[in-house]
Amino acid sequence: MVAFEEHSSVGLPAHCAGLISVSGLRRLNIDIPKECILNRVKGATFYSPSGTFFTVSRRKSQAYVINRPLLDQYFASKAQKENVSLFTSTKVLALKMGERRLLKVAHKKESIFEPKIIIDAEGIRGKFVREAGLNPPSKGVIPGVQFEVENAEVNPDQVEMFFGNKVAPGFFAWIIPTGENTARIGLGANHHALRYLKEFIRNHPIASKRLSNAAIVKKFGGSIVLSGPIPKTYTNGFLVVGDAAGQVKPTTGGGVIMGGLCAQIAGEVAAEAIIEGKVNSKRLGAYQKKWRKLLSREFYFMLQARRILNRMSDNNLDKLFRIIIKNDFPKVMEEVGDMDFESGVIKKLILKPKLSASIILNFLASFLIGKKESK
Ligand SMILES: Cc1cc2nc3c(=O)[nH]c(=O)nc-3n(C[C@H](O)[C@H](O)[C@H](O)COP(=O)(O)OP(=O)(O)OC[C@H]3O[C@@H](n4cnc5c(N)ncnc54)[C@H](O)[C@@H]3O)c2cc1C
Repeated sequence: MVAFEEHSSVGLPAHCAGLISVSGLRRLNIDIPKECILNRVKGATFYSPSGTFFTVSRRKSQAYVINRPLLDQYFASKAQKENVSLFTSTKVLALKMGERRLLKVAHKKESIFEPKIIIDAEGIRGKFVREAGLNPPSKGVIPGVQFEVENAEVNPDQVEMFFGNKVAPGFFAWIIPTGENTARIGLGANHHALRYLKEFIRNHPIASKRLSNAAIVKKFGGSIVLSGPIPKTYTNGFLVVGDAAGQVKPTTGGGVIMGGLCAQIAGEVAAEAIIEGKVNSKRLGAYQKKWRKLLSREFYFMLQARRILNRMSDNNLDKLFRIIIKNDFPKVMEEVGDMDFESGVIKKLILKPKLSASIILNFLASFLIGKKESK
């Protein structure tokens, strides 16, 4: 097996906030080295546009805040130990599909590879997904920006998420503690993400007070995929995984666990297909069947939740928070919540009579009026 990475070092440049669930790693059956873990968090606090908040927390650590480049490098060296030939500083330039599949790659000079199966994990660019005749995510991809800061007043045990159309339209802002007084502060927004992030740090009524002495040590960002999976993730001799396949949670933009689960299935199906000597589209369709069996219900519910959230005015978001708190819903989230498999909790939330009524009314209002109530 051969892997190509265009940069000189795997995992760089970083774009990820690095929050991954302990349960997700367990599902992947992966132990990660201690050096990759910067912090452990037990829960999250959610803030409404007007500052109403609730906390969902457990006794044990629920998620790790990781050094993502280091983790990617750990996986790369593990793969190399399993006889994967890794070519860094090697960009895949072109893909030719047909009876034979040809990859043109450039290191110092250009060369042609003829793999039996290509597993495309190129990220959100989606160039080769298109060249293979499939459709990469297009709608529902938003910019995300992030600052790494020191001297911030954070709760090292808790992630914080701030909602509101004036805070981060189309997503939310986050404070992810990386230590006692260090954090990743970021947000996604469907436009002007950097402007909203600067505004959040300077003027958010709650966050700005705690970040007034914060010093930015690093800035980074990328595209957050909220579209849900693409309709077709395979063709003759070709499988697509991760962001390029839209295998990211539409609620939170988390893609490491979802992409990882799908990548494991892709690897297994590809290996079996090569042993059988059948790498056609019909055989490789097993990949899509398997990941859908595991995850399509999750993606469906998370997409509906994202659609509902995106249509909510700030007033209705506030109402939603108040109903959640009044109905003791944070406790339900503590009892049955799962950071990756969110369908159970979303269903429980939607089925609460007062909540479903508020969501339906909000949905109808947004369709009738055609825009958000408070812009
Ligand atoms: C701001 C932000 C914060 C995020 N925070 C989180 C988080 O906290 N938790 C979480 O789970 N997810 C998070 N995500 C999402 C997560 O980063 C992605 O879902 C995940 O990295 C997708 O992995 P991937 O391997 O599909 O793509 P990528 O991580 O984008 O990797 C693609 C790789 O392919 C290489 N490549 C691309 N084209 C070529 C080419 N032509 N030739 C050779 N190499 C090529 C790239 O250099 C890159 O190394 C975040 C995303 C953003 C933007």
